[in-house]
Amino acid sequence: MVDGKFICRLQYPHIWGRYELCQECFGGKDRDMQTVETCRGKNVTILAIESSCDETAVAVVRNGREVLSNIISSQIDLHTLYGGVVPEIASRKHIERIDQVIAEALKTADRKLKDMDAVAVTYGPGLVGALLGGVSAAKAISFASGLPLIGVHHIEGHISANYIENKELEPPFICLVASGGHSHLVNVLGYGDYRIIGRTRDDAAGEAFDKVARAIGLGYPGGPKIDRLSREGDPDAIPFPRAKIAENEYDFSFSGLKSAVLNYLNSCQMKGEPVCQADVAASFQKAVIDVLVEHSLHAVRKFGYDKFAIAGGVASNSSLRAAFEEACGRRNIRFYRPSPVLCTDNAAMIGAAGYYEYAKGVRSGYDLNAVPNLRL
Ligand code: ADP
Ligand code: MG
Repeated sequence: MVDGKFICRLQYPHIWGRYELCQECFGGKDRDMQTVETCRGKNVTILAIESSCDETAVAVVRNGREVLSNIISSQIDLHTLYGGVVPEIASRKHIERIDQVIAEALKTADRKLKDMDAVAVTYGPGLVGALLGGVSAAKAISFASGLPLIGVHHIEGHISANYIENKELEPPFICLVASGGHSHLVNVLGYGDYRIIGRTRDDAAGEAFDKVARAIGLGYPGGPKIDRLSREGDPDAIPFPRAKIAENEYDFSFSGLKSAVLNYLNSCQMKGEPVCQADVAASFQKAVIDVLVEHSLHAVRKFGYDKFAIAGGVASNSSLRAAFEEACGRRNIRFYRPSPVLCTDNAAMIGAAGYYEYAKGVRSGYDLNAVPNLRL
């Protein structure tokens, strides 16, 4: 209660008290009432750790939306030698680097561990060995300092990246999460309350970018390279297919498109015709974007929302951002997209998601484990 009134913990998470409960948001869930400690009028600062793939990332985030530091130690140069992420190398590098990155994040934020209110960490989905590096570090910090531990879902992190630069953004909205491992259309009903309404049947969008880039000789990581090269190509040069899934209008499929690109390259080779890399890149990219835009805006319309967000590594694609901007503008839909640095893996997004979990009273035990195939 504040001044005799009930306030909603989710709308004002940093000023809730033990007995404040918004019936609308929580439906009177006792669990939240019992586990949440009182922190009325207090800022909540979270140390966040992300290590699900090949970025060792640590951030300090205040009240879910204010980033005090966001340090990312990328291993991309190491994995480029092998044409993709080597899980064993990723795990080892996380262990080597994590302490340094934590120290750097605290120093940049001008904070000490004692200034933190909780430690949040990605515990899935991702590479098991890589995840374990971050989870173990977070558990050790929590155990040694007494800070509450909060396990965060990586995809929830990607979606929450949108809250950081858009202070006014509140659920509900539709979010397209397109990354190297996922292509999900998510109905964001509330903080921490998600329904996946569409997903890929085969390759993720980012995976398709990486595979096609390799096929046309651009190397790893493919997404940014195709993005750049496409600017010099004609997106209508080659009519690559746009897959429709009969059973679910929101699902995606990119493996047919990938095969079509490979077939096109083979047939050019067999006929001795030259391949214009830029035209292949631009035509492939347009085929991916057309499908992502069509399915996403169909969902926004069907659910009657006026807000739409994108997230994940592919969301940093310049043509994709422009296509959504244009399509949303035409339909009076407010379009949200994180800055590119918050689209690819980072820990600021884990701090944002961790804050809303913290506000709901979610606390993880020391038995928190890495879950490579964790469901949203
Ligand atoms: P994950 O969470 O699956 O580990 P990220 O969220 O870090 O992955 O996204 C990495 C993926 O995003 C890679 O597949 C990469 O090729 C893709 N990507 C990054 N930048 C771009 C871009 N500008 N255009 C298209 N794809 C991109
Ligand atoms: Mg990711």
